[in-house]
Amino acid sequence: RQAQYRALRDVPALTRDKVRIGLHLNAGLLIDLTHLAETGAEGIGLFRTELQFMVAQRMPSAAEQQTLYESVFAATGDLPVTIRTLDIGGDKILPYMPALEEENPALGWRAIRIGLDRPALLRVQLRALLKAAAGRPLRIMFPMVATVEEFTRARGIVDREKAHLRRHGYVLPSDCKLGVMVEVPSLLFQIDEIAREADFLSVGSNDLMQFLFAVDRDNRRVADRFDPLCGAAMRAFRVIADRATAVGCPVTVCGEIGGRPLETMALIGLGFRNFSMSPAAIGPVKAMVLSIEAEEVRAFIETELAKATDGASLRSALTSFAKAK
Ligand code: PEP
Ligand code: MG
Repeated sequence: RQAQYRALRDVPALTRDKVRIGLHLNAGLLIDLTHLAETGAEGIGLFRTELQFMVAQRMPSAAEQQTLYESVFAATGDLPVTIRTLDIGGDKILPYMPALEEENPALGWRAIRIGLDRPALLRVQLRALLKAAAGRPLRIMFPMVATVEEFTRARGIVDREKAHLRRHGYVLPSDCKLGVMVEVPSLLFQIDEIAREADFLSVGSNDLMQFLFAVDRDNRRVADRFDPLCGAAMRAFRVIADRATAVGCPVTVCGEIGGRPLETMALIGLGFRNFSMSPAAIGPVKAMVLSIEAEEVRAFIETELAKATDGASLRSALTSFAKAK
């Protein structure tokens, strides 16, 4: 199997009916970037910056952050990299920051909420990113955005940092795209607005499912209570794919679901064309892509979704469908 997947490294990810599927990597440490060449991925769809902060002994300085991002860009060359601003809080604790006493940390003061309430931290990170990406394209993505206004405020901070650097004679990135993680369900009800405001969207299915079904993503006892292939979840994904496509906003899936072949096949049927996943998932997902017809999957999942009025999972139907390929 491993050798078979390795042989697919340079094979373009095209379905049998020639639909192009973008396969990108999730990364967080410099060492993860070595998988780029090994897997033949098209770029880094999600770079989780908090990992560097979590393994450090103290808060990385502005200069250290800039050096780190320069190393990321040096390692990725011309391939696109989407860098996510600090997603701390919840289960991601920085050892050198005072722990907060929160009843529900996953629903607490975390990610973009900290970034907007204490903009100094976010500003330092954004400035380091803008400087590191001098003269090259930069893609920044904000985590845990719950309202369009949170995104426009974050964008305002980026604009101010850009203006500051310009005034001081720095070379800016050649292009700066700002994206939003779709992982808080409230965004599903502002999906047109956020798709119009943001340059791109990326579905964080780990948190989206956690909040949609009120199931702690790390609690084994409740993990099996829902299936991301059930009608409700599939319809939530469909709304995102449909609306983003209608508005012309590029959308990727970067949660774990995008790295599981059966689930990814379903998401292709719902209209998603770009996925970001762990390195080990690229081979199996690419093998699946090569074996399917996107149009056939679309028709199948539409029919099954129309029938799934009781909220049941499409897993067994999709499994039989996939086995017949
Ligand atoms: C997600 O929530 O799906 C996601 C990609 O982000 P993280 O797993 O880092 O929360
Ligand atoms: Mg998340």
